[in-house]
Amino acid sequence: MSFDLVLFGGTGDLAWRKLLPALFQAFRHGTLPEGGRIISVARDDLTDEQYRSRIQSRFDNVELAKRPTPQEFSRFAALLHHLRMDLSQPQDYVRLADMLKARNADSLVMYVATAPSLFTTVCEQIAAVGLNGPATRVVLEKPLGHDLPSNRAINAALRHVLQEDQVFRIDHYLGKPSVQNLFAMRFGNALFEPLWRRETIANIQITIAEELGVETRGAFYDQTGALRDMVQNHALQLLCAIGMEPPINASANAIRDEKLKVLQSLKPWSPDTIGQHVIRGQYAAGTSQGHAVAGYLQENGVDPASTTETFVALRTEISNWRWAGVPFFIRTGKRLASRNAHIVVNFRPVPHPIFKTPAGAANRLVINLQPKDGLELHLLAQGAAQHQTEPALAPVHLNLDFDQRFGTERVGAYERLLLDVIASRLNLFVRSDEQEEAWRWVEPILAHWRTDPHGPRPYAAGSWGPSAASAMIARDGFCWSEEV
Ligand code: NAP
Repeated sequence: MSFDLVLFGGTGDLAWRKLLPALFQAFRHGTLPEGGRIISVARDDLTDEQYRSRIQSRFDNVELAKRPTPQEFSRFAALLHHLRMDLSQPQDYVRLADMLKARNADSLVMYVATAPSLFTTVCEQIAAVGLNGPATRVVLEKPLGHDLPSNRAINAALRHVLQEDQVFRIDHYLGKPSVQNLFAMRFGNALFEPLWRRETIANIQITIAEELGVETRGAFYDQTGALRDMVQNHALQLLCAIGMEPPINASANAIRDEKLKVLQSLKPWSPDTIGQHVIRGQYAAGTSQGHAVAGYLQENGVDPASTTETFVALRTEISNWRWAGVPFFIRTGKRLASRNAHIVVNFRPVPHPIFKTPAGAANRLVINLQPKDGLELHLLAQGAAQHQTEPALAPVHLNLDFDQRFGTERVGAYERLLLDVIASRLNLFVRSDEQEEAWRWVEPILAHWRTDPHGPRPYAAGSWGPSAASAMIARDGFCWSEEV
């Protein structure tokens, strides 16, 4: 199958840090279909050779195991091309159309890795030059809008020029191997599904913690905040993967229908529940990795009086028969104690304990997403101490280390998602109605914060966020996973 993959924004941060390394890995693994072209588009006037050598020097920053040898790079580089275009200028799309139509590849992927303000223009203009035929797939990065009306406007503009199944809204968390393994574990094994319900599960916690601050993206982040940047998309998609009903088959629409139902079942907000169950925070000066670091308000590009949240913790419920009453806790933030993303499924304790167990001990399934991915099943077993008069149990872990089991065959999130786009597999991409429903659910929180005089709670950089987040979960009688 021949393909042309156009990287709008081929000289930008996303392209060189994520997309090109992922495409190289696919090339190295032999999974990138042969006979393809990767065409970078940006305003820089570069020849193909200049673009290739720029990318080669960027590969020096990639971890050693994923860096190409000079021989590998020269074979990979043969796929790379560059086209100078100003995406705001309709006449520039004619040259792109000429270049692509001359070849007429089986699969035409348009990856829009450029400023969100250009998304609609790019889609309209590729249609204006006749590049929106059935072989075309358009990949859109987040953020797709900054609220429900702006998201709807983008989706409406897309619908004018493309079919829904030509639009690939990327959420790279869905491409992570452990998220796919969550689907495999739930729907490919008989073991967990009977336990996957309110009778046996006490609570579920989703944590996406970053150690870094806003780095060089202060101005962008100050307009965005943690709720829009992480909760509306990544955290809610993870919640859907955990909470959805078994789909009728593994097709994209069957999976997306079930995710949509989860989003529609999320408990609606009231001003009271937002006050009690949503904690927003903003990092103050503190320590990260042993170094003193500045607070958010001192970061470059950030308004010194900003009330943008860099931390959110919230409690919600999925109102259906399976989950009624089970709290789902979501927590995400910058400048937290460690870089760590995981989902913890806390099972209820046994109904009638006959053994002595450590306080609070119960079964727990941990799905690790970052920094390593894998699954851990926490069980209780008879300890080694022989001298005990009363039988006592100690915690043990069954650790499914995917790296150890599958090693080099493993495929990273962007690699997997890019191959899926080329092959037109939509399973791991987000449909417009899911995205709109997620915006609809976060809107009342955004509206509440606009008029809330209190602003975000400060927390020290390097901590786990404001203490109010621990108090919030403690009201249900639980604690965050690292406090166990
Ligand atoms: P970036 O570093 O600013 O790169 C933007 C790219 O777009 C550059 O190649 C730029 O090249 C090109 N561009 C801008 N205006 C153009 C125009 N009028 N015509 C042609 N090319 C133009 O941005 P980025 O960080 O890569 O982000 C790209 C998109 O991905 C954004 O929507 C961002 O929100 C999203 N995203 C990024 C990341 C990340 O890790 N970076 C993560 C998630 C989502 P020239 O200026 O030379 O034209």
